[in-house]
Amino acid sequence: MMQMLELPWLHWGLLALCLFCLLLLLNIIVLRRKVTERTQHLRNSEQKLRAILDNAGALVYIKDTDFRYQYANAQAVGRLGVALGEVVGKTDEDLFGASAAEALRESDRLVFTRRERVEVEETTTIQDESRTYFTVKVPLFDGDGAVMGLCGYSTDITQLQRADQALRLAATIFESQEGMLIAGPDRRILHVNRALHRLTGYDDGALVGQAFSTLQSGRNDDAFYQEVWDCVAATGQWAGEMWINRKSGETYPAWVNIAVVRSPEGDITHYVSTQMDISERKAAEEEIRILAYYDSLTGLPNRRLMSDRLQRSINKSERTGMGGALLVVDLDNFKDLNDTLGHEVGDDLLRQVGARLEQCVRRIDTVARLGGDEFVLLLDGLNADSKLAAAEAERVARNVAHMLGQAFTLGDRSHHTSCSIGIALYAGDVHGPEELLKRGDLAMYEAKAQGRNTVRFFDPQIQHAVALRTELESDMREGIAAEQFVLHYQPQVAKGGRLVGAEALIRWDHPVRGRVFPDDFIGIAESTGLIVPLGAWLLRAACKQLAAWGRDAETAHLTLAVNVSARQFRHVHFVSELLDALRETGADPTLLKLELTESLLLDDAEIAIARMTELRGHGVRFSLDDFGTGYSSLTYLKRLPLDQLKIDQSFVRDLLTNANDAAIARTVVALAHSLDLAVIAEGVETEAQRAMLERFGCHVWQGYLFGRPAPAEEMLQKMPIPIT
Ligand code: C2E
Ligand code: CA
Ligand code: CA
Repeated sequence: MMQMLELPWLHWGLLALCLFCLLLLLNIIVLRRKVTERTQHLRNSEQKLRAILDNAGALVYIKDTDFRYQYANAQAVGRLGVALGEVVGKTDEDLFGASAAEALRESDRLVFTRRERVEVEETTTIQDESRTYFTVKVPLFDGDGAVMGLCGYSTDITQLQRADQALRLAATIFESQEGMLIAGPDRRILHVNRALHRLTGYDDGALVGQAFSTLQSGRNDDAFYQEVWDCVAATGQWAGEMWINRKSGETYPAWVNIAVVRSPEGDITHYVSTQMDISERKAAEEEIRILAYYDSLTGLPNRRLMSDRLQRSINKSERTGMGGALLVVDLDNFKDLNDTLGHEVGDDLLRQVGARLEQCVRRIDTVARLGGDEFVLLLDGLNADSKLAAAEAERVARNVAHMLGQAFTLGDRSHHTSCSIGIALYAGDVHGPEELLKRGDLAMYEAKAQGRNTVRFFDPQIQHAVALRTELESDMREGIAAEQFVLHYQPQVAKGGRLVGAEALIRWDHPVRGRVFPDDFIGIAESTGLIVPLGAWLLRAACKQLAAWGRDAETAHLTLAVNVSARQFRHVHFVSELLDALRETGADPTLLKLELTESLLLDDAEIAIARMTELRGHGVRFSLDDFGTGYSSLTYLKRLPLDQLKIDQSFVRDLLTNANDAAIARTVVALAHSLDLAVIAEGVETEAQRAMLERFGCHVWQGYLFGRPAPAEEMLQKMPIPIT
């Protein structure tokens, strides 16, 4: 121990040094660890901070007092369009150019001078992309309290601002002059603008919550609305004219637009509808239409409208084959009246003439004034047969001449006038309204040249035919009164040459013309209506004959077929007159057979069937004449209360030489059998024809082979002709 104590001081000194070194080392180690820990800690918090800043949803940056960027978060770097490493040290001038930088700097300066937080809206444009930011800038201080920079925090409000603008715009538009409403998917109204309030009169907000249909007027039908909503559903939109209900119950025409608004999923979320009151526009349109298409003096269609209708009528006639006529009516000596009594009196006459002309035509016809004292009548849908069409047109022309020939009252004086009428017929054969008008005009001048108060046709042949017809017509009137008509009878024969009946065929024994056959006058009698008195006469004559036969045992079984034409059959008194004739003459109704044609029955089938049924109730029979030449629809035939089909003579004529005709004849017979109808063939001229018809199953015949039509006694004398 002593030895130890006795160590030289040098040793103690060394030991102490060692100890000191050891302590120092320990200290260094501890210190190093502490520094490492600190650094790590710092790095961690910096990372956290960066993560927060980079995801802050805003641009965050720090600038020094020289306006140089010291820091920028990821978004700011992205917006500035430079690499992260390049931001530090850059100024706005470097990045955006001088003028943009100056704008940004203004608020930077404010922060530095005021040393406080500044809020500002900034817009920057980088590569044509403009964005607006709401920026907060706060000053940064150093330890001595001096400003050493600023920290900026910019939120992008571009979208917000746009939405805001759109909203403001929508609100402004919504309150525009047009009526506007927004409805929900159930079409119940959600919003209504002031204009619509004004338009509809629902200014108390009463429309909100109502169905869209509250505004719908009954002036558009259900089908219309169905179409509107179908269109909206299919295309997302509809626009058109619609009648709108006012609260007061009034209606007004509106131009309405309906559009759907859909959610991103495609569901309808709203309907937006705008509407504009177009009553004024419509009134103006109507006014223009009247000015453009009507004659202001008489209110009649003018030349333009007449040309339109004429063109349509020509087209229709081309399509249907129906005829039409243009009557050019010109007052005689109108100029004199105008010159002596003045234009006002002349105008008065023209107005009255217009009114009278309208009374001369049917509703489908057009009366127009072409100018001056020239009027035009357009007769549509006339007979396809030009002769009959001519007769129809002529009748109207005569009526016009008669009507305008009656005295007019002009002021306090009575005035007489006459007119010249030119007629141009058409049947789809003209090239246009102008050509037809020219023809009508020519005919009218011809009429004037003939000494006024005359009617002339453009076509000289028609003119001639019409003259003949007119003559025939007046002769016929006289003929009926003078009993110039007679009935001839043509035998109808069954097997063995047995006479079973006859067909009555009319003849006209005219004192000058001689014997006139029905083909030359039945048509005119039909078109003039003379068939009614003529038919009444001949039915009575036939009944008398039938009654006379009935009184003789030898002829009591004979039937009598009588032809009945369409107009005659349709006449209201036809049935009653026939029943009267049967009763008064004592003829047996079951022996009377009325021959009708298919076209007659087709014209108004229901009435025809009703009439036939009624007469059949009294025993009268029916035969279908000229069978095979018409429509011959089976289903339709079945509905008719018929007794007999009559094979038309046109098939009988060439029976032996034309296989087609033979086939038709055979089919008609088969058809008659299947419908349980009797069948007769007419126009049988040879034994060979008769034999062939018999082979087909037709056992009753009529024709020259057995006898020509002749007076009753003559027919009976010649019959019966024995047949082997
Ligand atoms: P329809 O009813 O087809 O009359 C048959 C026509 O054929 C008659 O001409 C008759 O004389 C003619 N005929 C008869 N047998 C033969 C023959 O073997 N060969 C030829 N080639 N012809 C024959 P009709 O008397 O001139 O009468 C012509 C048409 O006039 C009739 O055709 C009928 O549609 C109509 N008709 C005749 N009488 C009257 C009548 O009293 N009232 C009406 N509404 N129409 C009548
Ligand atoms: Ca007949
Ligand atoms: Ca016939």
